[in-house]
Amino acid sequence: MKIYFVFLLTLLTNTTFGQEPSATRITKHIHKLASDKMQGRGTGSPENAKAARYVEKYFKKYGLKPLGTDGYYQSFTAKVRRVVVPDSLRKAANVIGFLDNGAPYTIVIGAHYDHLGLGRQGSSLDSLPQGKIHNGADDNASGVAGLLEIAHYFTKNGVKEPYNFLFMAFGAEELGLQGSRYFLNNPTLPLDKLNFMVCMDMIGRYNPDRGVGIGGYGTSDTWPIVFKGAESSIKFFTDRAGNGGSDNAAFYAKQIPVLFFHTGGHPDYHKPSDDPDKIDAKAEEAILRLEIKLLLTALQQPKMTFTPVK
Ligand SMILES: [Zn+2]
Repeated sequence: MKIYFVFLLTLLTNTTFGQEPSATRITKHIHKLASDKMQGRGTGSPENAKAARYVEKYFKKYGLKPLGTDGYYQSFTAKVRRVVVPDSLRKAANVIGFLDNGAPYTIVIGAHYDHLGLGRQGSSLDSLPQGKIHNGADDNASGVAGLLEIAHYFTKNGVKEPYNFLFMAFGAEELGLQGSRYFLNNPTLPLDKLNFMVCMDMIGRYNPDRGVGIGGYGTSDTWPIVFKGAESSIKFFTDRAGNGGSDNAAFYAKQIPVLFFHTGGHPDYHKPSDDPDKIDAKAEEAILRLEIKLLLTALQQPKMTFTPVK
C-alpha cells in the first residue's frame, strides 16, 4: 500500500510524464473544434457530426471500448423547441467510450460538444445572430478538450484504477441537456453501477480574480473528504449545488453525485465572439491537473452516496 502511494505521489508530482494534461494538446483540440470551418457545431449539422467523429477518433486512439448503441455512438432525435427555422427535429448523438478496469462501479466524465451553429437555434445573445458562426471555443470546445485530456491521462498512466471510467461527449446540450437526459433514460450501463459524474462546461476562460468554480460539493458527503487538503496552482472555490449549469443537472436529477467545473461567464458567452484565441490553455491545463488530483483521491474512496442539496 505504501509503495502504491509513493507511486501515486510520483505520478502527481512528476510533470514530465506523458499522460499529464498539456496546454499544447488543449489548444490543438479547441482550435480544431471551434474553427470557422466547424460552423459552430449546431445540432443536426454536418459539422456537428464532424465534431463527434473528432471525439471518436481520440476515443479509439486511446483504446476506449465503444459503449454507445452503434459503436461509440448513441444516436437520438433532438427537438428544437424555440424554433427560428421550420425544422424542429434534428439528428444528434452522444459519443461514449469505456475504460474497463474490471471494477464493479464506474465514474462518468462528460462534456457537451454541440454549440449554437449559425445562431438559428434560439439561445444566441447576439442582437442579430442568424447566419453568424458561433464558434463556441469556451462553450464547450474547452470542455471537450478537457474530456479528451482526462481520457488520455487515465488510459496512459499505467495504473489499473479501482473504478471504470465512462467518457461521454454529449450532443444537444444547448437545446436543453437532451443528450445527457437521453443517455440517462436509455443507459448503456446500469445507472446503479455509476459512482459519480464529473462535468466540464466552459473551463477555458480562467479569471484569476474569480477562480474556477467547482459545483456539486454538497451532492455527497464524500466530496469534503476528497477536497480536504487539495492544492492547486490556480484559484478554485466549491459550491454545494449540483443541479444547474450543464449536463451534471441531468445526473443530479437521477440522484447521482456530481462535480461541475466552470470558469464563469464573460461578455462572449453565447455570442459569435466566443473564439479560440481568447482561451487560456495554460490555466485550463492547471484546472485539469486539479481535476485529476481530485479524481485520484476519489478513486481511493468507497462508492459515494448521493445527498440532495437544499
Ligand atoms: Zn455549454
